[in-house]
Amino acid sequence: MNETVPPISGYPPQPKTSGLAIWSLVLGVLGIICCSILCAVPGVICGHKALSKIKHSGGALTGEGLAIAGLVTGYIGILLAVILIPIAVIPNFVKAFDRARDKAMRIECINKLRDIEAAKNQWASEKGKKNGDVPTAQDLRPYFKNGVFPTCPAAGTYTIGAIGNAPTCSIPSHSQAGGPASPYVKMILYKPKDACALIGNKTVMAGDNVQGFTIVAIGTNSVTVKSPTGVKKELRLGDVLK
Ligand SMILES: [Zn+2]
Repeated sequence: MNETVPPISGYPPQPKTSGLAIWSLVLGVLGIICCSILCAVPGVICGHKALSKIKHSGGALTGEGLAIAGLVTGYIGILLAVILIPIAVIPNFVKAFDRARDKAMRIECINKLRDIEAAKNQWASEKGKKNGDVPTAQDLRPYFKNGVFPTCPAAGTYTIGAIGNAPTCSIPSHSQAGGPASPYVKMILYKPKDACALIGNKTVMAGDNVQGFTIVAIGTNSVTVKSPTGVKKELRLGDVLK
């Protein structure tokens, strides 16, 4: 016959399940679900502590199975994190690298477009061309270093366009929206007695002021300016006033 025996006082107390062992399993399972070493590592620590306490409790604590399960899940969680973290992080590094490279190429391309625009204006002024006239790359070559016409660093195609219109790159993000933020030297017109330059949309002569910069002198192929802080700079065609 099976009969429930009521607990009799004086008997040794019922063994208690180790709280640490329970925590170990909970944290270990969370470590696997979340792939987080923030759960898995404490789970492993709790598991080891629980086993040690159970061993030294003289039978007062149980939960060895729970603690071992906690250790196993905790170590699996750590292993998953070690494998998965690099898999998750590496693509971000690659993306950040790509973004930085794209930005560098965009800036380089915009600078080249400025050079082309400066060359167009120089060509127009030397050849007596008007707005709407379209120079060819061959026409503009003499205005570039070593006669080499610029190319887009990302292999975009340049459209020189007419005088009065900005040149563009076939890669949309390379063509500046609404023009450059800072005025740049678009044209230098040097005559021994009477030199002027086009900076941004302003024609300037020595002594003039553009955005706080004083035009000190205009040479055959450069403009000397003095910044608001008193620093002298020599700007060539396409250089930004800053
Ligand atoms: Zn480009």
